[in-house]
Amino acid sequence: MSTSFDVIVIGEGIAGLTAAGALARHGLNAATFEQQIFGGLVLNVNELHPAPAGAEAGGAAFAAEMTQANADAGVTSVQEPVTAISASNGKFTVTTGSGSYVARQIVVASGARLKTLGIPGEAEFEGRGVSKCADCDGPMFQNETVAVVGGGDSALQEALVLSQYCAKVHLIHRGSAFSAQPHFIEQVKASDKIVPCFGTTVEAALGGQMVEKLRIRTAAGSEEIPCAGLFVYIGLEPNNAFLPADVQRNANGFITTGDALETSVGGIWAAGAVRAGCGGSLDDAMADATRVADAIAVRLK
Ligand SMILES: Cc1cc2nc3c(=O)[nH]c(=O)nc-3n(C[C@H](O)[C@H](O)[C@H](O)COP(=O)(O)OP(=O)(O)OC[C@H]3O[C@@H](n4cnc5c(N)ncnc54)[C@H](O)[C@@H]3O)c2cc1C
Repeated sequence: MSTSFDVIVIGEGIAGLTAAGALARHGLNAATFEQQIFGGLVLNVNELHPAPAGAEAGGAAFAAEMTQANADAGVTSVQEPVTAISASNGKFTVTTGSGSYVARQIVVASGARLKTLGIPGEAEFEGRGVSKCADCDGPMFQNETVAVVGGGDSALQEALVLSQYCAKVHLIHRGSAFSAQPHFIEQVKASDKIVPCFGTTVEAALGGQMVEKLRIRTAAGSEEIPCAGLFVYIGLEPNNAFLPADVQRNANGFITTGDALETSVGGIWAAGAVRAGCGGSLDDAMADATRVADAIAVRLK
């Protein structure tokens, strides 16, 4: 396999896959690098709302189709985590756990990961009641009581998924109103399984082998509630520890860019959830990726 490319795209989430496909269509020699498995955040989301055209069958199928199309178009896929990027003589060297690769331009599409609460029991019970995937783990909580934490689109979307399996879903939000899209709020209101708990925080997940209870805090004080599952959707933090320090980030660590989505380091571009100001939907991530690919094609002509 070649170790030299026109463009290296970091991440095989929907932004990275879109960028690489567009770069290939521009006739550029592109490679994608992935630390886990293609698909990123939507890998386990079966019912996408909104769903971009072609994604009606869910995140995994959508990503698989894009991956196949990229392979057919000649995109090289490297299953290695990027650990560092450095620049010299107008080229970039991308370092992974097992080698180094050279490119003329870099697209950072390394996305974001779900934030955690950082409470006692959360890490200890991971996979034993604490889950990040309602679609995959929901069926294991058939007729149980679970809790979802958060008040935005992801929290409400996943609470609705869990309500298909569970007897009761506590939807725990520290604020006094949800910030999700109105159609999610309407569906939550209409559900006889989902119990909104405003002004409430989770202090600990408790149990033996599995999660059995949560300790929560309301204005009235602290109490324990029976609960078999904890799903936390309180926002995202960016995956970009591998970037050089001179690539500017905002206060939350997301990469800041100019209008053309180039970062503060010329030749390094950012697309999708890793970028400050990206809208948050798949359509937004794909639009970013296409813009970046088009700009790079002009740059390299
Ligand atoms: C629970 C949930 C439900 C959602 N539902 C919807 C929905 O219904 N509709 C919708 O439009 N949007 C939805 N979204 C938003 C959507 O998932 C994101 O907008 C989109 O997936 C972002 O894609 P991305 O490619 O920018 O990032 P990601 O999906 O995060 O992909 C980044 C990829 O980069 C890889 N990576 C990270 N670091 C490295 C590294 N160092 N080296 C190599 N690879 C690396 C990661 O492993 C990952 O595969 C949802 C999000 C969540 C969390």
